[in-house]
Amino acid sequence: MDISEFRKHGKEVIDVIADYYEGLNQVPPMSTAKPGYLYKLIPHEAPREPESFEEIKSDIETRIMPGITHWQSGNFFGWYSSNSSFPAILGEMYSSMFSVVRFNWICSPAATELETVVVDWLGKLIGLNKRFLSINKDGTEGVGGGVIHGSASEALVVSMIAARRQMIAHLTSQGASDEEAESMQHRFVAYVSDQTHSAGQKGGQIIGCKTHVISTDANFRLTKDALETAIADDRNAGLVPFFVCGTFGTTNTAAIDDLSGIADVAEVENIWFHVDAAYAGSALACPEFHPLAIGSERADSFNINPHKWMLTNFDCSVLWVADSTHLVDALRIDREYLPRVKGEKSFVKDYRDWELALGSKFRALKLWFVMRTYGVLGIQRHIRMHISQAKWLEEQLLNDGRFEIMAPTVFGLVVFRIKPQAIVGSSVALEESEKSNDRVNSANVELVKRIQEDNRVFLVGTKVKGNDVVRAAIGTTYGTQENVERLVLVIKQLTTKVIGCAFI
Ligand code: PLP
Repeated sequence: MDISEFRKHGKEVIDVIADYYEGLNQVPPMSTAKPGYLYKLIPHEAPREPESFEEIKSDIETRIMPGITHWQSGNFFGWYSSNSSFPAILGEMYSSMFSVVRFNWICSPAATELETVVVDWLGKLIGLNKRFLSINKDGTEGVGGGVIHGSASEALVVSMIAARRQMIAHLTSQGASDEEAESMQHRFVAYVSDQTHSAGQKGGQIIGCKTHVISTDANFRLTKDALETAIADDRNAGLVPFFVCGTFGTTNTAAIDDLSGIADVAEVENIWFHVDAAYAGSALACPEFHPLAIGSERADSFNINPHKWMLTNFDCSVLWVADSTHLVDALRIDREYLPRVKGEKSFVKDYRDWELALGSKFRALKLWFVMRTYGVLGIQRHIRMHISQAKWLEEQLLNDGRFEIMAPTVFGLVVFRIKPQAIVGSSVALEESEKSNDRVNSANVELVKRIQEDNRVFLVGTKVKGNDVVRAAIGTTYGTQENVERLVLVIKQLTTKVIGCAFI
């Protein structure tokens, strides 16, 4: 493809993208492709001769599109949203245009410096404590700062690596030799809850530490008492606590852990405190949510995914650390082919010391595009609209009388189920037997299955405290109240079918 063909086809692709977004409400949100569908449709070897753009474009329509689940459809209420937006797409295009690789500042100064500035903007927007910002009020650089990773999972692993380094430094400061401290690593233990995203346990597996999974309370929260007890038990067993993950908006129910209590324990026990706010962190753009995050100002690291709920295309996950020393110490490896700037150090971050990969693309551009195009007020409107739609959905479900809400609706997530009393022809509500629970669970699993098969809207179910529940996550960029109304209609219609049918 030469430059004139690129000019021509590039313009066509913009039209394809615009048409796609315009038509999203008219297509079923969920792909109905069966496993292996694509394997049957495309050749099993790369073409020997060059193919035309027209041929490839046509295959997008006929072969790829059937296997696409439309995450950007307003009728998509599954998992958590993965926001895209037009400014972010344009930012991505510039990023592809430059295709720089930012590992050291000198690789492309704008890529590093924009990242430093824009994650500070974001930190200020969500009310992060100034410990996490790179640039102090007087314009000097502090020891804190943020970096854009690809995912919250990476952010968690990197925080665990920094925490491990901090603990080794602590042990040596207490008199252990370097070898002794290093050799104690097999006794290091990290704390997560039974509601922490699986990334917490995966992080433990990756870095090779033990992970203690603590049971949450009735509201799905990790509490101070439970953490204290777990740590005391582990210390008695000779383990070395070094890391705890608190979540601001868990994946299952959007619960908020007792962040203040966790911060207290982390301080007393001298362990690293990471806050996973991958989903709900975006809500902190609205100051009314700041009281819910109290405690996180004392964390060591804090992560949000603008690619979930802040209008920025995947991938964009921001990790802030209050003190980058341990992180950089843990990940810094020098090679002669990776030269650093000598002398003037201000604003010269070599982000390869802040992440797993050596190189990353210029992700800051799309976040910059989003923050400038929407402004603080536009971002706040986006978040508040979804939260009020979630409240409206909750109200509709409660007014219907057949549903119960299974977790507080704080953000854009509504967790509910058909309540036992609504299940026709059974005295399930009165019986506390295992069998009656099974029947309620099957009814709710069936509701999710039918909603997915119906495919006017898409959502998923989950299990909390042994109960099968339905999750509706409101948060797509271009979804409207009409989409939520359609969701309510579908839930009500299919519930009528489920509770009237024989299997329960
Ligand atoms: N943490 C929470 C609370 C999440 O909800 C998720 C994903 O939904 C993750 C972490 C993992 O995010 P990522 O895909 O960016 O690793």
